[in-house]
Amino acid sequence: MSDDSPAIREIRINPVVPSESVLVSTARGMRPRKAEDPAPRDTRKHVDRCPFCTGNEAMTPPTIAAWPAKKDWRVRAVENLYPVLGDNSTASNLVFGLQQAIDGYGRHEVLVDHCEHGIALHEMSQEHVSLLIGAYQERMAALYAADPRIQYVLVFKNFGPAAGASIPHTHSQVIAMPVVPENVHNEVTNSRSYYEKHRQCIFCSLIDEALTFEAKIYDRASGAVRRQISVGQYVVERGEKFIAIKPFASRYEWEVHILPLEHRHDFLLLTPEEAEDFARVLRHTMARLDAVIGGAQYNFFLHSLPHSPEFSNCKNSYHWHLEICPRTSIPTGFELGSGLYVSTISPEDAARQLREVSL
Ligand SMILES: [Zn+2]
Ligand SMILES: [Zn+2]
Ligand SMILES: [Zn+2]
Repeated sequence: MSDDSPAIREIRINPVVPSESVLVSTARGMRPRKAEDPAPRDTRKHVDRCPFCTGNEAMTPPTIAAWPAKKDWRVRAVENLYPVLGDNSTASNLVFGLQQAIDGYGRHEVLVDHCEHGIALHEMSQEHVSLLIGAYQERMAALYAADPRIQYVLVFKNFGPAAGASIPHTHSQVIAMPVVPENVHNEVTNSRSYYEKHRQCIFCSLIDEALTFEAKIYDRASGAVRRQISVGQYVVERGEKFIAIKPFASRYEWEVHILPLEHRHDFLLLTPEEAEDFARVLRHTMARLDAVIGGAQYNFFLHSLPHSPEFSNCKNSYHWHLEICPRTSIPTGFELGSGLYVSTISPEDAARQLREVSL
């Protein structure tokens, strides 16, 4: 980062979910908490004993689906051998005093993203990433359709040891859950309240701001201009139908969100043509992150409007998106204890560095 930029110390409130706030502190005192260099990712093309490598299909539970659906699969879905949720439980929900538990039914599937063991997303072909996005849609739709009790289907990917990936072979996961995760619930209900007040989708407003906003922030005491926010400052990558932006209140230093430029509430309604642009923006964003961080290890997850009737009135207010959270540091006691995320790079500076990568 450029050392001539003035140090920032401010708490930034997440406009969608205010409880998820961030302390942006570029002062040196916050810097030593950086994680040690994470274990390098496994970049081998084929590993003989890896259950996800081609030729080892018998080592995994049976294939649920494959794309293409023939022997020469390029993406493959299998049941998770160690599911966090299973569908064979019949116990009813449990309440005892203050202790409540919801029966952990659901489904847990793994998508083998590519037959090449250690390939990174930005190294996959554009066409392959489109195919993968189509596979996400198909499994998500199938899981919603399979069980009316399912409240949410979460698609996510952990890549690299720093992001908690337990199997080095590149893969994603799809979990059908009996509850709407709290962060999705907060986003959906908060954006609905915003819509009721402003008749506008808050995510669309944030995209507009990222693209066009110009403002000056004044020092209250002296009246001097403290900071100027200028056009396109948060844009990392722009496609025809998708945009990658650096959130103003990023929890993770290199966090980037990808959203459809036009208002869309449901990832499942993405057309193949839109999926191509999404794939392009995603690949370019991952390439930028990889170049700046020097090997991106990350979690990403899809947030889309839950299908339950409770949220059927949120189609105009909720905007689906992909959140990419590269893991470059380890949360400290301060973060766990305060619930406040700490970012030692200003999101504006991070966005500029990502934009400046030439692809
Ligand atoms: Zn493998
Ligand atoms: Zn919108
Ligand atoms: Zn989200």
